[in-house]
Amino acid sequence: MTDPLVALRHDLHRHPDLSGDEGQTARRIVGFLKQGAPDHIIGNLGGHGVAAIYDGVQDGPTVMFRAELDALPIQERSSAAHQSGRAGVAHLCGHDGHMAILAGLGHSLSESPLRTGRVVLLFQPAEETGEGARAVLADPRFASLRPDWAFALHNMPGVALGHVAVAAGPAACASVGVRVRLRGREAHAAQPETGLSPAPVVQRLLEWVPQFQGQQVGAQWRLATLCHVHMGQPAFGISPAQAEIWITLRTITDAALGAFEQDLRQLVETQALHHGLDAQISRHDHFNASINNPAAAAIVARACAKLNMPMGDFALPMRASEDFGAFGDVTRTGLFFLGAGLHAPSLHNPDYDFPDALIAPAVQLFRTILQDCQHA
Ligand SMILES: [Zn+2]
Ligand SMILES: [Zn+2]
Repeated sequence: MTDPLVALRHDLHRHPDLSGDEGQTARRIVGFLKQGAPDHIIGNLGGHGVAAIYDGVQDGPTVMFRAELDALPIQERSSAAHQSGRAGVAHLCGHDGHMAILAGLGHSLSESPLRTGRVVLLFQPAEETGEGARAVLADPRFASLRPDWAFALHNMPGVALGHVAVAAGPAACASVGVRVRLRGREAHAAQPETGLSPAPVVQRLLEWVPQFQGQQVGAQWRLATLCHVHMGQPAFGISPAQAEIWITLRTITDAALGAFEQDLRQLVETQALHHGLDAQISRHDHFNASINNPAAAAIVARACAKLNMPMGDFALPMRASEDFGAFGDVTRTGLFFLGAGLHAPSLHNPDYDFPDALIAPAVQLFRTILQDCQHA
């Protein structure tokens, strides 16, 4: 017989939802949790979010565990029986696995209930766009759930299967998408000097980005990635009037990201002014840095030691961003990483698939973390 948590993951994998549109995934989760005995379930939290609450008999700390509901707008390449049934949408970040783990913790709490405190299992929407955690925090109903501790894990390809990476301090980087729109005036390609082409500013930005490609993640580290460029029309007779450039900026701390973004804005504004162009700058997909509380990181490390789970050889922070960082504003957070295998495809690759073998040990790890929090 298939493990019910593995069956749940495969079911979620077959039916992926995009960020902000996770209604049917949320319903599947609620259906599964209700086979157990949560004390309350709150739906539509910050969008399609679900919080399942398990109360202990005695007062004690509230401990939150978080998983993400959303999949990605990428066509999966898979021959598995549980491959995505939706064209162009797939769980390629392993959020299906994270949900199965949290659902497993829910069943564990139903079978052997808490004595003290309270557990909140948060199935958060819209992680991939960086909007979901903030939307959950902004939902007035979150106030009654406010945790003393919050934990989340992310699976990590390139790290040995089941090995854990955790550290106090920075766990995942801050990032922001900057969209620059430039507008000048068209001209005949034979007389470009009579128009206002955005080409010199585009060129300047294309030169600016490669200065920030450092591989070594340290305090001063800045990474700029050119994600999209569009200029003019595909016509040889026209000197263009418009251009659009998308650049993602990444740093270790929120303050460093603010300074980096300011530098880019200043460059665009100065250059646009110099070339007589109108410039519009907007920010998107903003992720706070995820900074681990030292006591929360220590709880994770102690739980791993207790379960003899090996610590992975992986330097933190990870370069990618996690919107779990937003919860660091209201509570002590611990974000850690669970190896998905040294040779597993990378996250967001079309052939990535969460390893089922991680589900059972991760449920145990969360349960052990919970026991520690009740005494911390
Ligand atoms: Zn992702
Ligand atoms: Zn993810």
